[in-house]
Amino acid sequence: MNTQEILAKQKQYLWPNHILYYTEPLPLDHGEGLYVWDVEGHKYLDFFGGILTTSVGHNHPKVVERVRDQVGKLIHSSTLYPQENHVNLAEKMAQLTPGKLQMSFFTNSGSEANEKAITVAQTYTDNREIVALRHAYSGGTSLTMSVTAHANWRLGKSFSPDIKHAVNPYCYRCPLKLSYPSCDLACAQDIEDVIRTTTSGRIAAFMAEPIQGVGGFITPPDGYFQIAVAIAHQYGGVFICDEVQTGFGRTGTHWFGISHWDVEPEIMTMAKGIANGLPMGNTITTAEVAQAMVGKGLSLSTFGGNPVSTAASLATIEALEEEANPQHTQMVGDHLQAGLHRLWEKYPLIGDVRGKGLMQGIEMVMDRKSKEPAPKAVAQLFEETKTHGLLIGKGGLYSNVIRIAPPLTATKEHVDEALAILDHAFAQVHESMGA
Ligand code: PMP
Repeated sequence: MNTQEILAKQKQYLWPNHILYYTEPLPLDHGEGLYVWDVEGHKYLDFFGGILTTSVGHNHPKVVERVRDQVGKLIHSSTLYPQENHVNLAEKMAQLTPGKLQMSFFTNSGSEANEKAITVAQTYTDNREIVALRHAYSGGTSLTMSVTAHANWRLGKSFSPDIKHAVNPYCYRCPLKLSYPSCDLACAQDIEDVIRTTTSGRIAAFMAEPIQGVGGFITPPDGYFQIAVAIAHQYGGVFICDEVQTGFGRTGTHWFGISHWDVEPEIMTMAKGIANGLPMGNTITTAEVAQAMVGKGLSLSTFGGNPVSTAASLATIEALEEEANPQHTQMVGDHLQAGLHRLWEKYPLIGDVRGKGLMQGIEMVMDRKSKEPAPKAVAQLFEETKTHGLLIGKGGLYSNVIRIAPPLTATKEHVDEALAILDHAFAQVHESMGA
């Protein structure tokens, strides 16, 4: 099928609220490594990896082979029957995650992983309320939409009254109008205010992403999570760390983003990059937290931990260890960030460059003084980069943040190729905006 035929069916048969990138949406056909091809045969360098999901690149031979083998052996068993890949992956998760995280519950998506995290936190603590952060994105189910703090992503009518929101550590647009470090991390202290003024005074959890993903790669300053998590503990809560975007080496140096802040969550959720694109979520907890579920009701997941997704995940982790470990990601991420800083020096449309490893955001503004968001410039940059063969992502409450997150197998050469296209695209946008 060609582009027009696919778009016609999309329009007729898929819910119209599916978000599609680009003025003329882009049907993709196949991929290899860092590249994808559309159905018309055009080639693109993929620096968004299907929303931070294709961790080891498209059609990675190891993943393809392992999935093929497993499909020919057993596609499905359900969690009613123990299965080799399932237990091996759970063991691997316990080895890779920080602290005492040990016991996994696999599901099919980040939303489900976060739902399970809230249930287990409430069961373990016997408290109800959750403190989350403004600008968070947690998923598309009712409960996770209640955690999500972007009006645009909060559809429907049934939000949980148990979720409260503290201000987020958004230094570029500090919600408290302070600046780091003289602020003394007042945003972290807001968690205590929220607990004392809007909850029963005892919470089930503080829940946060190490770097807010959909929120626009908002990166908390040093020291933030140490204070936030200590407050959660003081009021009876555990820390649910949502590593759906930041997991599996994405942020460099460590396997999980939260290790940059040197705190250990009692519950961690993951999805996206976990299986290179096969659907999977995981909620991993300490043994003590998992134990609290015993005798409190039954749990199963029909597709959770299924033999094919777990095979893909084991192969993905192996490929990461061999080709793109967190040190590699740090090195290539530093190269990317240095290049983005050079663009910042050149183009005043760029207000802020932030992130860690291969998770870098560019916040675009009309001018650096007013910091007025520039979503139209982002839209134009999207068209320009697409025309020149580069796929990127966007996000942020004001739709003015470019999200750059290639597969972790990206090399410095791939980064240079992307930077050259970005440079050209920024020049075009700069010129057409008369900047
Ligand atoms: N948590 C975070 C941090 C996410 O970015 C997302 C998805 N963008 C989710 C949870 C929900 O994941 P899914 O779309 O797989 O349900």
